[in-house]
Amino acid sequence: MHIHHLRNATMLVSLGEHRLLVDPMLGEPGAMAGFKLFGGGRRRNPLVPLPTSATDCLQQATGVLITHEHPDHFDAAGIAWTRERRLPVWASAMDVPSLRQKGLDAHELVDGSLGLSVEVIPAQHGPGLVGWMMGPVAGYYLAHPSEPSLYLTSDSVLSDSILEALARLAPDLVVAPAGSANFGAGPSILFTVDELVTLIRRAPKDVLLNHLEALDHCPTTRAALTARLQAEGLTSRVRIPQDGEQLHYERGSTGPHPRPKARPSAKPGLQKWLTSKLG
Ligand SMILES: [Zn+2]
Repeated sequence: MHIHHLRNATMLVSLGEHRLLVDPMLGEPGAMAGFKLFGGGRRRNPLVPLPTSATDCLQQATGVLITHEHPDHFDAAGIAWTRERRLPVWASAMDVPSLRQKGLDAHELVDGSLGLSVEVIPAQHGPGLVGWMMGPVAGYYLAHPSEPSLYLTSDSVLSDSILEALARLAPDLVVAPAGSANFGAGPSILFTVDELVTLIRRAPKDVLLNHLEALDHCPTTRAALTARLQAEGLTSRVRIPQDGEQLHYERGSTGPHPRPKARPSAKPGLQKWLTSKLG
């Protein structure tokens, strides 16, 4: 499995014959308003450009994978780019109808899609009511028979469903957002650094941390994270890529991957409807 990290949560994952572009935020720096609401420091997003390697990288994409419809995961530029190329868009049942309304060739990602073992693992984009108001988010476990298995937690705080999935599915690589986003007041809407430490300790194998230094409401830096992981003795299994960095992961064992758990697919309801009006 090859990962080309581009910026924030945007990356190209090579999984078998697939080249899946995850959560493309492709806009120019400053194309979007700031997300930080309180306490100063509001700046237009994204803060940084795509790396120069992005142009060649994007051309390889055979499909797009969306974890949720926030603009730092699928912005206007990403939507236009995907629509122009008529690439299939894979998403949870929550997001497929609204993605189709945007003129995209959207498909529900289910177990067996793309020849992969798939489980959609609920994510919680903040604690309690804050998380509900942030709207639905899908984490994905993806396992290709001849590749390391991958668990994209997507934007979440630490939850029992994430810890349960780590223990049951033993993913070879966990990708987690590490910017500790918050609006300048109120709780963190992504894993805190303490929660990341717990997540890394509970992840059985490798961890990749992204969603860093690209948005005004994500205060945690790569340097601060690295220092904390060094203090915790956790650097050996964790990578914090620079934008444009490419990483390769080999499958450690030849046995079958754990089978995903069958779950009913959650259809869009009040939360999706209301939060899409607010977003
Ligand atoms: Zn995000």
